[in-house]
Amino acid sequence: MTTSIGVVKESEPGEHRVAVVPAVIPRLRDLGCEVLVENDAGTGAFLPDSAYTEVGAVPVAGAELYERADVLACVRPPSGDQVPRMRRGQVLVGMLEPLADPDLFRALAERGVEAVSLDLLPRTLSRAQSMDALTSQASIAGYKAALVAADAYGRYFPMLMTAAGTAKPAQVLVLGVGVAGLSAIGTARRLGAQVTGYDIRPETRDEVHSMGARFLDLAGVSVGSGEGGYARALSESERDAQQEALQQRIGEFDVVITTALVPGRKPPLLVTREALKGMRPGSVVVDLAAGPRGGNVEGSEPDRSVLIADGVRLIGAGNLPSSMAPGASAAYARNIAALLAHLVRDGAPRLDLDDEILAATVVTSGGQVRIGGGAR
Ligand code: NAD
Repeated sequence: MTTSIGVVKESEPGEHRVAVVPAVIPRLRDLGCEVLVENDAGTGAFLPDSAYTEVGAVPVAGAELYERADVLACVRPPSGDQVPRMRRGQVLVGMLEPLADPDLFRALAERGVEAVSLDLLPRTLSRAQSMDALTSQASIAGYKAALVAADAYGRYFPMLMTAAGTAKPAQVLVLGVGVAGLSAIGTARRLGAQVTGYDIRPETRDEVHSMGARFLDLAGVSVGSGEGGYARALSESERDAQQEALQQRIGEFDVVITTALVPGRKPPLLVTREALKGMRPGSVVVDLAAGPRGGNVEGSEPDRSVLIADGVRLIGAGNLPSSMAPGASAAYARNIAALLAHLVRDGAPRLDLDDEILAATVVTSGGQVRIGGGAR
């Protein structure tokens, strides 16, 4: 028996990534799979159909892909137009954001699609690390956020001694030091800035120090580790205290990069408009958490850069991994290939719900929506 893997052409505007790149196709073929690629699926990542043909994959039109594939691989959640093309028993794997749009998952369950969402992968399970797409993509987003900030900043990041005098190093503050934050710290350090990190999970202090950065101590602000290594949401009074304490310190920095998230919640508001007013003209703030539900910085919106009062540039990051589509797709494709190696057994996809990885990531099965392990 041969499993057909179908590589979907992403439908979301501005999404240039592709779920499977030619480099992983030999591995998928070794699993006994044939790989079908929707025409032009890789174009946004500079991967023409011919690059797939060279490694034995078969470019096909969308209608054929949805009809023949046993497993559909995607990056972003499917659009309303794509769902009706899927068929009963078809497996869909991707970063499906099941907490963002419950209607989509009801529609997938009604069609009998078996959906596997990589964003629900247990992060601390060592055998799942090779499948951790949140990590691979957040790491790229953090790297790019530091570059976006350096590009917008009107001075050097490193200290430079030149014949024309000495340039002071930029002071960079990274708020939220999970995967993206640590990546932003590393990148800003490599560019020569003096970097400070801050997070409410106490264990991040050592991680920040190990990157050669300082940790920002905020007196009187609660610490907040939650479940699974994630942060907990702060209460209203804790949040007010945090905003107040940050406001006191933020004027010390030239560049602020924010990456704070709490799973299933809107991003915590860390930097108020009042705090921005305390920054020096020419300072830059990049909000990686900016999204439809708000961000870490008051007034930030995805893909929007505004010069607010007193010359502070506020940049709401959009889909930064898509802006590095070749690299982001290569990393994501390795995550997908690792998941498929786990899924495909004796030539067929098997969704064993007793398996810890699949119990967490299968979000529709047997016509039911089951997010977090139970049918809903
Ligand atoms: P995330 O994207 O959910 O959040 C980003 C950061 O924001 C987190 O560090 C969080 O603590 C912080 N944050 C939330 N609210 C905040 C607030 N009010 N103020 C300041 N900071 C705030 O996190 P992530 O990057 O996905 O990482 C989540 C966890 O998963 C971390 O513990 C990370 O170490 C862990 N992880 C483990 C592995 C592994 O073991 N292999 C791999 C990846 C991630």
